[in-house]
Amino acid sequence: MIGCLFCKIVQKQIPANIVFEDKRVLAFEDVTPQAPVHILIIPKEHIPTVNDVTGEHRDIIMAMFEAAKVIAKEKNIAYQGYRLVLNTNSEAGQSVFHIHMHLLGGRHMAWPPG
Ligand code: AMP
Repeated sequence: MIGCLFCKIVQKQIPANIVFEDKRVLAFEDVTPQAPVHILIIPKEHIPTVNDVTGEHRDIIMAMFEAAKVIAKEKNIAYQGYRLVLNTNSEAGQSVFHIHMHLLGGRHMAWPPG
């Protein structure tokens, strides 16, 4: 989508430290990391929020979780644990309206989140 920051990263118009890519999904380091491991996993297709996900996105959503598993293993945090977060709309703090799964790990995670 024109003007979407994450679509521009998918199209390689904006640089990112890419850690995983397949035909449906791209994953890259968050520019403002909140943990020793902080990766954003995004679909290549533009989907603004989780509220816009439908049954037609089944394969994409599955691919995002598969990517999370692979990356967590590669970063050696699969066993200790990690957190997957999808902020949706304003009260949750979504700032980029192209869905993205935050993969956070490498430190203890408090609950409830802030
Ligand atoms: P959210 O607040 O859930 O929408 O998350 C958006 C995330 O995108 C934030 O954690 C930002 O630090 C991150 N971010 C914004 N711009 C970039 C960028 N150009 N490259 C990597 N991460 C980014």
